[in-house]
Parts: sequence; structure tokens; C-alpha cells
Amino acid sequence: MWRTLSAIVFLVAIVNPLAETRRLRLRSSDQLQLDEYLDYNGVMQYLDHLARAYPDRITLKNVGRTYENRSLKLAMVTNGDGRLGKRVIFMDAALHAREWMTPVAALYTIYKLVVEFEENADLLADFDWHIMPLANPDGYEYSRKTNTRWMKTRTPNGGNCNGTDLDRNFEVGFGLGFPDLRGPCDHNFAGRAPFSEVESRTVRDIMHSLMKSERGVMYLSLHSPIRRVIYPWVYDSTPVPNHGEHIEIAKFVADQIFQSTGTVIKTLQGVQYGEFGGSSIDYAFYVGFPLSFAFEMSGMDHNHVDYKFFPPTWEIRRLADESWTGIRAFGKKAIEKYPPSRAIHQSEDRLSNPSRGEGYAAF
Ligand SMILES: [Zn+2]
Repeated sequence: MWRTLSAIVFLVAIVNPLAETRRLRLRSSDQLQLDEYLDYNGVMQYLDHLARAYPDRITLKNVGRTYENRSLKLAMVTNGDGRLGKRVIFMDAALHAREWMTPVAALYTIYKLVVEFEENADLLADFDWHIMPLANPDGYEYSRKTNTRWMKTRTPNGGNCNGTDLDRNFEVGFGLGFPDLRGPCDHNFAGRAPFSEVESRTVRDIMHSLMKSERGVMYLSLHSPIRRVIYPWVYDSTPVPNHGEHIEIAKFVADQIFQSTGTVIKTLQGVQYGEFGGSSIDYAFYVGFPLSFAFEMSGMDHNHVDYKFFPPTWEIRRLADESWTGIRAFGKKAIEKYPPSRAIHQSEDRLSNPSRGEGYAAF
């Protein structure tokens, strides 16, 4: 008897520290690197690691291939309870290549929902999050390695230049707006036609599939660095039918960030910043997402020096935390406003027949 008991005590004494060490080792590799900007491979490796370590909470899906043959990846995050068909918050980042903090914020959101799951379980009880941390990987790599100020894709565009501004390439109001949308060498070139780019087609197809399955509630597109929460329409001054709901959520997000870090985030309908067609938030709202926002994150350091698109690496962690405060607030409010008992109003006809702006004919 005593021998058996002491054997058990001995085993527990040995096994427990081993288990503890193993757990700690796993946890340290789960951490997202926040002291430098990851490149495309680094982003993919981190996603692959989480998908291996937490197979019941995160699934990766290859949703497309870019012009330069990089994989477009969607991370589908759930709480692992096995319930299918939950409502979805769909978030993308880096449609604009040079906005380096946006993939960080998307990855940090995935980290918070998957690794720090217990603290954020409320965001996953009835909702899944579908997150595309690099919606424009060709442009992102080009911005990181060749020309930091690059914001478009890398596809030859019919002029003597490359690239299309993905946030002008969606179909609602396509081509409307300032003249440089039509210049193939301009930063804001809208493209030869709506959805000329595989990256915008991929985001569009995800939106359509979430609408057809009646799951899509909120589309959230991450941008930087002008410290704003923007809602539709961008192409037209008419307010959307649930304008008030958008204002309420935008103000809640801005308040949460202000209380936490003192950063002032303005809230406005997109058209107030500049009227143009082809934005992803207009398209998401048009096809039936009841909530659609662009979150323009801050690029300022703690002394309010504005580094715009490229905050120094020592500020990444602080800005990632600030953006998470905002993203969490978006999620909390969307979930509160659209519980499973509230119908999502669909507009099926719009999936096959999007509106075309006046500028469309010009292309
Ligand atoms: Zn942007």
C-alpha cells in the first residue's frame, strides 16, 4: 500500500512539472511577435501555427491566389462548441498595402480570440469571426521590401503602370469621384472595371457566401492612419436606413478608445471625408451586411507624434492594444444589436445585380 502511494506521489511530482513546462513552451510559441512587422511568410507561419495548436478554434481556408501567386487566406475562428451556422463578423486588413498596422491588428484579434479565449469568450458565444489578415499580400510585400508608399495591387493595369486601389474596385458607384481614380499610374486607380482584381473578387465572394448562408452581420475593414470610424455610404450622401445604429456603434468604439488611451477617433459617414465609388464598405452594406465599417486606426506614438502608415516598431504593441480595444468594442456592439433572435434583412437580388455608378460607363 505504502509502496503504491509513494509511487503515485513520485509520479505526480515528476509528471506535473513536465506538463507545466510543456504548457509554458506551447504558450510562448503562441505569442504574436509585436516588436517588428511580419512579412507575408511570417503572417502565414503564425496562422499555420495557431491552426495546428488550436484545431477546434481556428480553421484556415485558401480562398484565392494573387497575381504573383500568393495564397489569400481566411482564418475562421469559433469557440469550438461544434455549433455550425453561427452569425459572422467578417474582417479584412491591408486592402491598402502600406497600412502596415492593419495586418498586425487582424492577427492580434485572432490571437485574442484563439489564445486568450477565456477573456473573450463573450465575443464567440453566438458568433464566429472570419478574418483575412492580408487581403493584398502582393502589394504588402512590395510596400515592405521595395516601395514603402505602395498601396495598390501589383497586377499590370492596362496603362504603363501596375496596380489597382482595391478600395475603389468594388462595384457600387464604381468610378465615381475624383479624377485620379481614372489614372492607371495614380495611387487611387479604380481599375479597368469593377472587380478587375482577384483580391477584390475574393473579398466579394466571401461577402456573397456569408449573405447566402444568412450569417453575415458586420463587415469591418481595417485601415490606417487617420483615426476615424467610417460608415456607408461613401459614394452618395444619402444616409443608410440604419444610419442611427451605425452612429451609435461608431461613437461607442471611439469612446472606448478615448477612455483607454486618450486617442481621439472621429466618426463620420464616408461621403463626408470624400465622395467616391467602389469602396468595400459600400459593397458589403449593399449586398446585405446590416453593419459595415472602415476602422482607420491611429499611427501616432504615445507623445502624439504621427508616424502615419509606418509607426516605429517599438510602438507596435501599444497600437495593437489600442486597435484591439476598438475592434472588441465593434464586436461587442454588433453582437448586442444582432442577437440570433433578430432577423438579418437580406437583399438577395443585389447579389447578382449590384448597382452601377454613373462612372461605370467610362470604363
Ligand atoms: Zn486605407
